Amino acid sequence: MQLLHRFEDSFDVYFTGRDDGDARDLVSRGVIEKELSAFTDREVRLATVHQVHSGIVHVVGSGGPKRVEIELADGDGMVSSAKDVGLGILVADCAPVALSSPEGIFSAVHAGWQGVLKGVLPEAVRLMRLVGASRISAYVGPSVKSECYEFNGPALREISKLLGPSVVGRTSWDTVSLNLLESIKQSLFMAGVVQIEASDACTACGEYFSYRARKSPERHLMVIVPAGGAG
Ligand SMILES: [Zn+2]
Repeated sequence: MQLLHRFEDSFDVYFTGRDDGDARDLVSRGVIEKELSAFTDREVRLATVHQVHSGIVHVVGSGGPKRVEIELADGDGMVSSAKDVGLGILVADCAPVALSSPEGIFSAVHAGWQGVLKGVLPEAVRLMRLVGASRISAYVGPSVKSECYEFNGPALREISKLLGPSVVGRTSWDTVSLNLLESIKQSLFMAGVVQIEASDACTACGEYFSYRARKSPERHLMVIVPAGGAG
């Protein structure tokens, strides 16, 4: 697991690579929590959701049993302000999105086209604001890019109707596709998030697990955690 992004709001975002193996296995063996605890120099519990391509976001509190992974119900996003919690999202081609705020409130979202269409990003932003977040910053992790992923039909029309024509992309073989990253940016813009950074990496043509490109059953994990050393 490697550092992928560092927010100015004192949050770090980590990502497991292909060399780390299937992240679901790392999660169930407790490897992620050990690494997070080592990186931050405090005991960190990992919270994950049972991802179902929905618009459901959970609020994760502090406390609870130590060294026990928090497995939440069905959902595709989590919001927390707990110092001892890391929020983890499993992905292959869908985009993992991390959100931070200066008030110490943070979020992790599983954003595929279905979640984007169901409003999972504005829901995470709404919950962050509800518990006191002001200026929210976003980081979008590696995902399948429009050049490598053919996508057309009623779903694309629905997404472009909701988020604008800029979400329509083209593949490198010149067919219509969805620009997932652009749709995520537009969804965040509409929710009032303007500070957005993103990874250039494409899971389909890069050194990643990709269901779309290679039918990989494995997953990567992106985790956002309060940075170490801040107390
Ligand atoms: Zn690609």
